[in-house]
Amino acid sequence: MKKCPRGYDVPQRFEKETYMKMIAFKYFANNDARKVEIERPKPGPDELLVKILATGVCGTDLHIYTHGDWIGKAPIPEVTMGHEFVGEVIEIGSEVEFNQKYPQVSVDIRVGSRICAEPHIPCGKCYWCLRGEENTCAEIGHLGVSMDGSFAEYMVIPADRCSLVPDSVSNLEAVGIEPLACAVRAVHRSRMTIGNSVVVIGAGPMGQHVARVASLSGASFVVVSEPNARRRQMALDNGIDRVLDPAVEDLEAVVMNLTNGIGVDITFEVAGLSETIEQAIAVTRPGGRVVQVGVPTDKVTIELRKVIIGELEIIGEHATQWDFGTAIEMIESKKVDVTSLVTHTMPLEKALEGMHLAMEGGESVKIVLTND
Ligand SMILES: [Zn+2]
Ligand SMILES: [Zn+2]
Repeated sequence: MKKCPRGYDVPQRFEKETYMKMIAFKYFANNDARKVEIERPKPGPDELLVKILATGVCGTDLHIYTHGDWIGKAPIPEVTMGHEFVGEVIEIGSEVEFNQKYPQVSVDIRVGSRICAEPHIPCGKCYWCLRGEENTCAEIGHLGVSMDGSFAEYMVIPADRCSLVPDSVSNLEAVGIEPLACAVRAVHRSRMTIGNSVVVIGAGPMGQHVARVASLSGASFVVVSEPNARRRQMALDNGIDRVLDPAVEDLEAVVMNLTNGIGVDITFEVAGLSETIEQAIAVTRPGGRVVQVGVPTDKVTIELRKVIIGELEIIGEHATQWDFGTAIEMIESKKVDVTSLVTHTMPLEKALEGMHLAMEGGESVKIVLTND
């Protein structure tokens, strides 16, 4: 223990705090994110301080990095990026009470526990929050946009957004809980039942998860349309029935052939492009449902006449609502291997490199940054 000038012992806590710096990757402007050294944050009364063990690079992070936008919202100045993570609890806020308000919140979270978290932070007060529909909260916030995210050595997170990671789930698996939970939400939203036929357009990490969850949920068959060869192979390796390259095969012709000219019951659009949204409508049968998972960068124009005369439903999907528990169980029981999508792991220090690699597409699918 150090001595202060008057010879008194310096309390150990003070000694430690003077060294509480950490690195974080912050968004400054479009295509301008930088590694900075900043103070380690302190948890507010209802927050946890966690050490990030691993964090995933998501398409949303890339969109924020290049466009400075998350579904119409600009990031706050110098926000720390990242939102998919697993962390170890270092400190628990003074007023945190673990209760059953959210089913995903475990009463067993304590210092040293590993947690993952729903990165959307609802206000808890609006009409939708009070109805238990927090994912449609009017004032919803987002890690890496409206509050500092997980591309850092430490972060704070509201305790009621956290879920305990079971001991049998590795850090690499735990990073996949949040995106898998979003896929579970998408399948819930589709109201699919056993025997439904399914098309998934776009097999990035989210499309892969959606296809797998739909398959597990009893789809009669799942067709995946994806131009990237590695992603197509990945989908096949994960048990998807039929994959195709839309540059080579006509999706609509393939689907009509498989369904005797009727179309599939449910289509998940996970690419977010005008052209693929049109395709989603074209391959879905009258009375069927299109779940819009991909987020277009701008307004899109679509042919609505088939939607009207075929009584199609186009269903929105956002974040999760009570889906973390399902995702954790699917991973814990090994029904879904989320690590099969991870093509690269690299140290947190290389976050910028990781984002650029993810943007290149090609051989990269899911990139995970580690800090353990
Ligand atoms: Zn994400
Ligand atoms: Zn709200």
